[in-house]
Amino acid sequence: MLTDSYGRTATDLRVSLTDRCNLRCAYCMPAEGLDWLPKPELLTDDELVRLIALAVTRLGITEVRFTGGEPLLRRGLPGIIERVAALYPRPETSLTTNGIGLERLAGPLRAAGLDRINVSLDTLTADVFVQLARRDRLEDVLAGLAAATEAGLAPVKVNAVLMRGINDHEASALLRFCLAQGYQLRFIEQMPLDAQHGWRRDEMVTADEILALLSSEFCLTPADPAERGSAPAETFLVDGGPQTVGVIGSVTRPFCGACDRVRLTADGQLRNCLFAREENDLRGPLRAGASDDELVARWERCIAAKLPGHGINDEGFLQPARPMSAIGG
Ligand code: SAM
Repeated sequence: MLTDSYGRTATDLRVSLTDRCNLRCAYCMPAEGLDWLPKPELLTDDELVRLIALAVTRLGITEVRFTGGEPLLRRGLPGIIERVAALYPRPETSLTTNGIGLERLAGPLRAAGLDRINVSLDTLTADVFVQLARRDRLEDVLAGLAAATEAGLAPVKVNAVLMRGINDHEASALLRFCLAQGYQLRFIEQMPLDAQHGWRRDEMVTADEILALLSSEFCLTPADPAERGSAPAETFLVDGGPQTVGVIGSVTRPFCGACDRVRLTADGQLRNCLFAREENDLRGPLRAGASDDELVARWERCIAAKLPGHGINDEGFLQPARPMSAIGG
């Protein structure tokens, strides 16, 4: 079990499959992109699957979420999912994606054993999409969403980040769209994880503001908090339910006390928090011939050192050295 010194147990592993992305979302990276990791530094499929297998069979991980960067850019993704879904005990498998390429891949991913999917969609307006993501790909994302439902990945979850003056006027329209399509929408507060360090607290659209924006059109009632568990989203019934909307107030309503996550980067670094300032190298020992027991011990040491909170609201907070795209969101 991966239990930390505050009594939390990590059961949810987030695996970044690549730091590359085909969008340039303003809250994530600069328009010109980033220096991507050189290929030899990335874990191979076999290395990845070995580490995930240890986490599942020896350390109590019950859910494996693939992310990035953009995980659909990882060659061999269906094969990785197939091997992870074949582990015993079988972990739940999920994927967070921007949806580009999902129109083609949704069926093969489902067939490989993918259980659930989250697609990021911040706007329904083509020119706002271009302004925010610096690429003209809205139609691809919408087609990917439809393909996910078609492939049986329902209920499809949609993640949206609002940026003040760019897409915050679309909060209600996004919810209307998701309700009509049967997607479960969750708004995420913008976090200080962008590569260009442009995040400003007073520019962030807060959970309170998001709820106020939605309340102008919808009646929101908090869902039973007992059902939240370790889920980051606070869930609200929309117009009496049964459909819901989620708000993830990572900054203004932190949920670190219930955190059950651990992260593995594409280059084999283990992180006990999105905002951790330290990483634990698994790739080096793995390539140097470490035994399973040695790798398990490293993993346990990393979790034992997990801090009680992400620290964003502490004086002197420093962003992690690596951006969200490299850590895996
Ligand atoms: N490329 C995939 C995608 O777009 O979903 C997976 C990686 S992306 C880093 C995962 C999620 O993190 C997306 O929903 C994205 O909107 C969100 N995200 C990225 N940067 C963020 C930030 N600074 N604050 C809050 N959420 C962010």
